[in-house]
Amino acid sequence: MLLSAPDAEGGDFTRDFRDSTLRIDYVLAGAPQGSRPVLAISGISRYRGWGGRRVNLDTTPLAGNADVTITDASSGDTLYICPFSTLFHEWLATAEPAAPAAMEGTALLPMPRRAVNVCISLRDKYRRPLTSTTISVDPTDIMIADHTADVPLPHKYIYRGENPDSAKIRVAVLAEGFTASEMPQFDEYARRAVDAILEHSPFAERAESFDFIAVETVSPDSGVAVPQAGEWPHTAFGSHFNTFGSERYLTSPRIHAIYDAIAPLKAQHIIILANTATYGGGGIFNFYTITAAANELMPQVTVHEFGHSFAGLADEYFYADDLMDNTYPTDIEPWEPNITTQTDFGSKWQSLVDEGRAGLIEGGGYRATGIWRSADNCRMRTNTSGGFCTVCRNAIERVIDWQTRP
Ligand SMILES: [Zn+2]
Repeated sequence: MLLSAPDAEGGDFTRDFRDSTLRIDYVLAGAPQGSRPVLAISGISRYRGWGGRRVNLDTTPLAGNADVTITDASSGDTLYICPFSTLFHEWLATAEPAAPAAMEGTALLPMPRRAVNVCISLRDKYRRPLTSTTISVDPTDIMIADHTADVPLPHKYIYRGENPDSAKIRVAVLAEGFTASEMPQFDEYARRAVDAILEHSPFAERAESFDFIAVETVSPDSGVAVPQAGEWPHTAFGSHFNTFGSERYLTSPRIHAIYDAIAPLKAQHIIILANTATYGGGGIFNFYTITAAANELMPQVTVHEFGHSFAGLADEYFYADDLMDNTYPTDIEPWEPNITTQTDFGSKWQSLVDEGRAGLIEGGGYRATGIWRSADNCRMRTNTSGGFCTVCRNAIERVIDWQTRP
């Protein structure tokens, strides 16, 4: 029997979990302005190894719009929590009533040593419960699909940090819309994207905490779908522009296929490089980053979107006529660390303002008034910024520490 004393990794990882991965696939179904959405489990499987965090297991620095929580089935103790957001949230927030639709989701979790409950909960922008589903998972259940013998797809380490594997953050860079013969070009783009991230503070100073792995996910056709042009090539993850009617919004609907590609590699964070020169992309917290690989602004856009997907940063941009956008209601403090409505500024960067190390400037989060940012310019505001503002840098550091330091 293992003792329950904290182990060398500074937590109770080896007491509660095995060095393997529990994957839970689900589907979210619902409609904007419809009744309560449904989260239904569509598959449970296990993989060899665990590449996620082994420290700070029962805490999170950010709330996100959703989380997955593991609790001990007998004691009820929280053993693990991971926050995230989804594209489904964005779709529900669209003003247009629409017929119900379904979207995929996947959670990668450390494999528990004993029976647990796994709860996946979604919240609305006022942090009210939107939907949640709890399932019992017994690690001895013969119905957990065994993928421990799965062989990873062809991949290359673009960057390998010096930390031990147990204190590293594994980021997969996936090819989308690249045929087999186009893989040398993908490798070049992947290198360019990772170089851009590691040139930005604080990633530059914390590079030892990261592995970046380029995964050669081959597509039958070249390019990505452009619905407004009637172009629908067959690609690995079905990525397309015109998401929610927005010309530049590029997203990938095939979440389960994405996780088929990354799970055997034990990766936790996802950057999808889409084979197109058309400006576009997206980034959602602990969900994925996607960018247009062949666009000249790809390095800056990738870092910006990774700010969303890795550290939960909000967009700091806005337009002068953005007065009524309700992405972030102004009567509640958003959980995103780099914008404030000043309803609870003490929980944000008030102390940095008091020390004269950061500002408080109106405009941000798609609103010209009622939301403030900390600096005039930042990577989360423009592609011409020199880097992240102090508040964003601190927020990124906290997320790196959370995943790597006891
Ligand atoms: Zn910033």
